[in-house]
Amino acid sequence: MKAYDVAIVGAGPAGSSVATKASGLGLKTLLIDKRKEIGIPIQCGEYMLHESEVKRMFPNSKHTSSLIELTKAFKQNECNFVRFVSSSGHEYDLRFHSYVIDREKFDKELANRARKNGAEVWLNTMALGVNTEKNNLILRKNGSYEFISFKVLIAADGFNSNIAKSLGLKTTSIENEALTIQNIMDEVNIESNICEMYWNKDYSPGGYAWIIPKGESVANVGLGVRRKFKKEKNNLKNYLNSFIIDNPLTSKKLSKGKVLSTVGGAVPVGGPIPRTFFKNVLIVGDAAGQVAAHVGGGVPSSVICGEIAGEISHLHIRDKVPLSQYEKTWKEELGDVLKRSIILRKIGDLSMINNKLIDLALSTIGEEKLNRLIRCELPKELEVVLNIISNTKQKLGYIKNLFKS
Ligand SMILES: Cc1cc2nc3c(=O)[nH]c(=O)nc-3n(C[C@H](O)[C@H](O)[C@H](O)COP(=O)(O)OP(=O)(O)OC[C@H]3O[C@@H](n4cnc5c(N)ncnc54)[C@H](O)[C@@H]3O)c2cc1C
Repeated sequence: MKAYDVAIVGAGPAGSSVATKASGLGLKTLLIDKRKEIGIPIQCGEYMLHESEVKRMFPNSKHTSSLIELTKAFKQNECNFVRFVSSSGHEYDLRFHSYVIDREKFDKELANRARKNGAEVWLNTMALGVNTEKNNLILRKNGSYEFISFKVLIAADGFNSNIAKSLGLKTTSIENEALTIQNIMDEVNIESNICEMYWNKDYSPGGYAWIIPKGESVANVGLGVRRKFKKEKNNLKNYLNSFIIDNPLTSKKLSKGKVLSTVGGAVPVGGPIPRTFFKNVLIVGDAAGQVAAHVGGGVPSSVICGEIAGEISHLHIRDKVPLSQYEKTWKEELGDVLKRSIILRKIGDLSMINNKLIDLALSTIGEEKLNRLIRCELPKELEVVLNIISNTKQKLGYIKNLFKS
C-alpha cells in the first residue's frame, strides 16, 4: 500500500490549494479527482474579486497572495460595476472592481503547481471510502481498486461532501442549497464592464439571476434558485429560458444570443458546517460550506482555506500541532465575513416573498448601503441591532444556566 503524508480528495480550488501548499512544504502529497480532466466542465460564473476588493473583504487573511496572483494571471475581462436590477427595472450601479477569469485554466494551473512541487495527481480516480482508525482510503483508479494510507486526509470533494457525510459530520441541508444553471452565450448585447444581478422571484426564487460579461458579446448567463422558494413544477431550464426570453428587462440583450454550452451545479449557502475537522480529516472549500452565502461565491474562500489546511497539515505532521488549529485559523481569517454573509442572505430571504417587497427593500436600502452590503459589510444600525440580539441571547443563556446549577 502506498503511503502519503497528505491525501486530498478533490482537485478543485480548495484541494489543489492544499496540495500546492503541502507539497511545497515538503510533505508527500497525493491529490485525486474523479474527473478525467481538471476544471471540466466549468460550473462557475468565473466572477472574481479584484485585489483591492479581496483585501477589503478579507482584511484578516494572511493567505490571499496566490489567489490574487492567479486571478490576475487568468483574467479575461475586467468589470468596474455591479448592477443590481429590481423586478420593476430599477437599476442600482455599484462601483465594484472585479475580474472575469478563465476558470478552467485557473484550476489546471493550481493543480500543476502542486505537481511541480512533487505532489502526485491522479485523475479518473474516485474515493470510495475512508477508514480513520487505520488511516487508509479506498480508491477506484482507472477501473481498478487501490488502497493508500495517509497521515492527514483532506475532504475537498465539493458540495455535500460524501467524505464528511461518511464520517457522520453534518453537511449542507437541502434548505441551504442553491440550485444553479448557466449558459455561456455568444452574440449577446451587453455592457462588458458591468456585471448584472437581477432580483426577481419569478426568474430566480430565493436567489438571483446574473449576466457576467466574458467579453464584448460573450456572457455567462445564469441563475440560482432555492428549493424552498421554487415552484414545484418549474425546472431550472424553464427558469433560465424564461429569464432570457420572457423577461422584458433582458430579452433585448439576450434573446437573439447563441447558447454555446449549458451546465448546472449546486452551491452551499447555509454557511460553514458546524465542524470542519474530525480525527485526522480536514474538510475544506464547498465541502465545508466555506462560501460567501449572500452571492454564492466560493473560489476565494476555497483557496484561502485550502492554503491554511496545507499549512496546518504540515505543522501537525512536523510538530504535532492539533488539527483543530485549522478550524481556529480559518475562523480567525474568514469567520466574520462568512457569518455576515449568512445574515445578509437571511435578510434577503425575508424579501423574497414577493417582487414588490424586493423592490421596496432595494429602494429603502439604497445605492450607498448596497455598496457596503455587496462587500459583506453590514450598515452600522444593523450591526447595533444584531449585537443587541446576540448579547440578549447570551445573557438569557447565562441566566438560564444560573437557575440550572
Ligand atoms: C453555476 C455556478 C456558478 C458559480 N460561480 C461562481 C463565481 O462566479 N465565483 C465564485 O467565486 N464562485 C462561484 N461558484 C462557486 C465555486 O464554483 C465553488 O465555491 C468552488 O468551485 C469550490 O471549490 P472546491 O474546490 O471546494 O470544490 P469543487 O470545485 O466543487 O471541487 C470538488 C472536486 O472534488 C471532486 N470529487 C468529488 N467527489 C469525489 C470523489 N469521491 N473522489 C474523487 N474526486 C471527487 C469533483 O470532481 C471536483 O473536481 C459557482 C458555483 C456554481 C455551481
